[in-house]
Amino acid sequence: MLIRDVCLSDGRQGRDLLVQDGRIAAIGPQLAAPEGTEIIDGQGWLLSPPFVDAHFHLDATLSHGQPRVNDSGTLLEGIALWGELKPQLTQEALIERALRYCDWAVARGLLAIRSHVDVCDDRLLAVEALLEVKRRVAPYLDLQLVAFPQDGLLRSKNALVNLRRALDLGVEVVGGIPHHERTMAEGAESVRILCELAAERGLRVDMHCDESDDPLSRHVESLAFETQRLGLQGRVTGSHLTSMHSMDNYYAAKLIALMAESRLGVVANPLINITLQGRFDSYPKRRGMTRVPELLAAGLDVAFGHDCVLDPWYSMGSADMLEVATMGLHVAQMTSRTAMRQCFEAVTVNAARIVGLEGYGLEVGCHADFVLLQARSPEEAIRLRAARLLVVRRGQVLSRMAPAIASLHLAGRPSSVDWSFSPPR
Ligand SMILES: [Zn+2]
Repeated sequence: MLIRDVCLSDGRQGRDLLVQDGRIAAIGPQLAAPEGTEIIDGQGWLLSPPFVDAHFHLDATLSHGQPRVNDSGTLLEGIALWGELKPQLTQEALIERALRYCDWAVARGLLAIRSHVDVCDDRLLAVEALLEVKRRVAPYLDLQLVAFPQDGLLRSKNALVNLRRALDLGVEVVGGIPHHERTMAEGAESVRILCELAAERGLRVDMHCDESDDPLSRHVESLAFETQRLGLQGRVTGSHLTSMHSMDNYYAAKLIALMAESRLGVVANPLINITLQGRFDSYPKRRGMTRVPELLAAGLDVAFGHDCVLDPWYSMGSADMLEVATMGLHVAQMTSRTAMRQCFEAVTVNAARIVGLEGYGLEVGCHADFVLLQARSPEEAIRLRAARLLVVRRGQVLSRMAPAIASLHLAGRPSSVDWSFSPPR
């Protein structure tokens, strides 16, 4: 396959990309097409590596309305609602919903997902279902699973035993939820136990951490400390970290330096953080997303995750990582050209590094995995939530879509419109 005339996210224009044996064989202007090569005209649109979602819950997705909707819209009612739904889950329904979501993802150019899976159910129904889904989607989507003790590692009976069982079955990342344990001390203890477990088994860690507006919720400090103590640098991620929004600036400055020393990955979930945080505030209401620009400036990898789609916590969403990037950009006020590009990286390259994807990127030798977007730059892709014209994995076309163009019927005016805009450079 040879894709002619695309632009790349670093600003290069008029490039061709040649695919051979599922890998990128060459990138350059006007490449020669070997005999029998399929040629696709990129029409100058943006070619990007695929979207990566570093934080999702595939066991709960598309369950909206079962057994009822979340009326208050709060995190706590969401957790209670999930608890009501859990006994009613069946493996068939879990698999069907997850596969359906993965179809949506592929059509959106989202080809890698790190999903947490709840292990606080002695049957491990969701674990078994998502391991089956992982096997079934492997030909077209990278699914990585995190063993997640939703009801608390120490607070919920059997959670630690079940978490170990999930790892034995093939779940590959250790999860946690220290802010949901009974006390601050138990939260810190859960971080220690889980990091030791990961070190013992050579696994990565990704914890829901400090998803709270309480500035004294400081479990990320323990997470950074345990990462250093156990030599887990570069393998540990803190997800949400919303309490950092409300922390005192002096303490946050010390904390961010400690996190950078520990090479923690950070995942903010803008759509969910902006709807769930600040719920105990009257006015002003806090935004409750972690300090993304400051963390990036300190050299940390920051990704934006989707977290939820049509589940007990969130009744919106459609597997669109550009929608996630749009919200992150607005909530963190990342409006400079550099910052807008960082928002694009938060749903592509940064997320890929956090998840640990091999062979990811648009470089010679990388997997031929990419998405052609109907946009001329990463910031335009975010602004337009650009149509995914072509989605390719290992050199195989997985999805195609016609460009979004409206036909106008206005006397004396042009007959079509596509919303693109080229600002002066
Ligand atoms: Zn989550």
